[in-house]
Amino acid sequence: ARAQAMEITERPEVGYEDIGGIDEQVREVREAVEQPLIEPERFEEVGIDPPSGVLLHGPPGTGKTMLAKAVANQTDATFIKMAGSELVRKFIGEGSRLVRDLFELAREREPAIIFIDEIDAVATTRTESKTSGDAEVQRTMMQLLSEMDGFEARGEIRIIAATNRFDMLDRAILRPGRFDRLIEVPEPDRDGREQILEIHTRGMNIADGVDFAELADETDGYSGAEIESLATEAGMFAIRNERDEVHHEDFVDAFDKIEADDSSDVISSA
Ligand code: ATP
Repeated sequence: ARAQAMEITERPEVGYEDIGGIDEQVREVREAVEQPLIEPERFEEVGIDPPSGVLLHGPPGTGKTMLAKAVANQTDATFIKMAGSELVRKFIGEGSRLVRDLFELAREREPAIIFIDEIDAVATTRTESKTSGDAEVQRTMMQLLSEMDGFEARGEIRIIAATNRFDMLDRAILRPGRFDRLIEVPEPDRDGREQILEIHTRGMNIADGVDFAELADETDGYSGAEIESLATEAGMFAIRNERDEVHHEDFVDAFDKIEADDSSDVISSA
């Protein structure tokens, strides 16, 4: 059960070239995570410690997990992913135990990138009501912080966490020596959406006349993940129309379908 809570990938198949619209964030992650692994002597020479932990924050589906996987790929590090929600356990000590196992595994497999998704599950500001469940979650968090304190800043294990609820985070985890490098990963802008469309259609049979610029204009508010589903859905329309090339109208049909599904969600959840 313990191993199931973690996802281990020797070499994730995601490269920086697969990530669109967040070049600045890619640069920052490389500087904070990749460089200390590849050229630790640079930090030594200058006499500073690299950031202890990096926190990626921003809306869902914007590429936070991709960023973490791409650094692992680039540095040949083992990628170990754990969802924050997995660390919230019923039995006393179980969450802390998982945290210890997580770091132990990272030490066995170093160089390693530990990625904790939904860190907010164990690190939200506690309300007044101190239930025993809350106290247990708090202990798990303390265990995580103490593991972070324990490892060499210039060592072979790097830790990245992600959240889409930054405002709710317990500020204690952001102190120096903890998650002390914050990187905001925003929704893509127009040009970013165009880049992401190009990335996700690279392997598709796209007809002349598909206007990515127009599609980028129309998809204001779409995340990278939503643009990916748009491309897949357009492919579905091509198949339905018994074509092997995807036409502009397939993208428009896909867009209309996604928009219609979204508004029916709003109606049914109202
Ligand atoms: P969550 O907060 O929901 O975990 P996330 O920010 O970690 O989301 P990812 O898991 O990295 O999002 O993205 C989900 C999928 O959406 C990716 O596998 C990718 O196909 C696509 N995607 C998201 N952002 C981008 C991007 N910037 N460039 C290219 N593809 C993207």
